[in-house]
Amino acid sequence: MHKRTIRDVEWHGKRALVRVDFNVPIQDGEITDDTRIRAALPTIRALMEAGAKVVLMSHLGRPKGQPNPKYSLAPVARRLEVLLGRPVAFAEDCVGPAAEAAVERLAPGGVLLLENVRFHPEEEKNDPAFAAQLARLGDVYVNDAFGSAHRAHASTEGVAHHLPAVAGLLMEKEITVMGRALTDPDRPFIAIIGGAKVSDKAPVLENLLPKVDALLIGGGMANTFLVAQGYELGKSLVEPDAIDTARRLLQQAEQAGKRIHLPTDLVAADAFAPDAPHRTVPVCAFPAEAMALDIGEATVAAYTEVIRTARTVVWNGPMGVFEMPAFAKGTVAIARAVAEVHGTTIVGGGDSVAAVEQAGLADKMTHVSTGGGASLEFLEGKVLPGVAALQDK
Ligand code: ADP
Ligand code: MG
Repeated sequence: MHKRTIRDVEWHGKRALVRVDFNVPIQDGEITDDTRIRAALPTIRALMEAGAKVVLMSHLGRPKGQPNPKYSLAPVARRLEVLLGRPVAFAEDCVGPAAEAAVERLAPGGVLLLENVRFHPEEEKNDPAFAAQLARLGDVYVNDAFGSAHRAHASTEGVAHHLPAVAGLLMEKEITVMGRALTDPDRPFIAIIGGAKVSDKAPVLENLLPKVDALLIGGGMANTFLVAQGYELGKSLVEPDAIDTARRLLQQAEQAGKRIHLPTDLVAADAFAPDAPHRTVPVCAFPAEAMALDIGEATVAAYTEVIRTARTVVWNGPMGVFEMPAFAKGTVAIARAVAEVHGTTIVGGGDSVAAVEQAGLADKMTHVSTGGGASLEFLEGKVLPGVAALQDK
């Protein structure tokens, strides 16, 4: 996982063609959350200071290969200007004469944002001619968009075949922190896996089980594991098709001498609703008419004990239906326990990251991954095309 980074390049006067992830939420032309723009600032500032001509490209939403003002990056250029305190030029197209002329006008240390790369259908097709057109805009390609690295698109993968390709600082952090946890973790190494479904997370469980010292399971997927052990969970979310997978994973763990921890108590609700009446019950006495929407206090206490011993924690997937405050307690309690760990703590997954941010604990973690799908594939042990395309050290 040792990739060349922007620190390995002599930049002065060179054009840096940088893939960033500026896929921010926009409502009525207003950016409602600029976290992703701010996440790219260290790389942009480092390149500016090194005297590079900084050419930024990104996708925004799903414009389906058509120009569409609704998905224009123009508002992002204006926000970036405010965040950098420096002018940011904007090109109405990401390739062709308009883009090339805008790049031509850049001085060392200047910044240009290109229009949405997904306004061209060739982007998602990873069309080589389109990638070559993009490559004309830079001397060196920088990928700082970890969140898009699991897709082999022209701006994330194809362009790297035409230019020297290095990692940006955000990309570097993602792959070194998560890479180290998966290859050479400080121990004990504990993984906490939750979320709705076993079927979504089976490849992650499969990849992590041989590497971890213990697995803590929560969320809807714990139900399927409990049913595999013979418990009855009423109307809870259970995946009949995944019971065999759950059973197999439990056997694998036993053979390897690893502990898979499952909830011993659950919050049983009368309905899937924020105001549903609910109570905590042991897993052996689950009401036939209820559904499990969170882990219970005894489970939180037991999991907290295990987490306290950890030197490395990887967490993916909330412990309950955290979108409803009544069923967010387990997730928030586990987030607090992870925040207190003296060691490396990594949170990945769109909903888990949202839960940790909602609890105000994001800055207490070593690393909160910016890529939902990308971090999941990383934890599955897959090679991400956008990472593979970068030059090795
Ligand atoms: P991530 O995005 O972090 O990878 P997932 O998408 O796998 O996480 O899972 C998050 C979803 O799982 C949330 O929408 C949450 O409401 C749901 N969930 C968690 N626990 C339960 C449960 N007991 N029953 C139903 N849904 C659940
Ligand atoms: Mg999710």
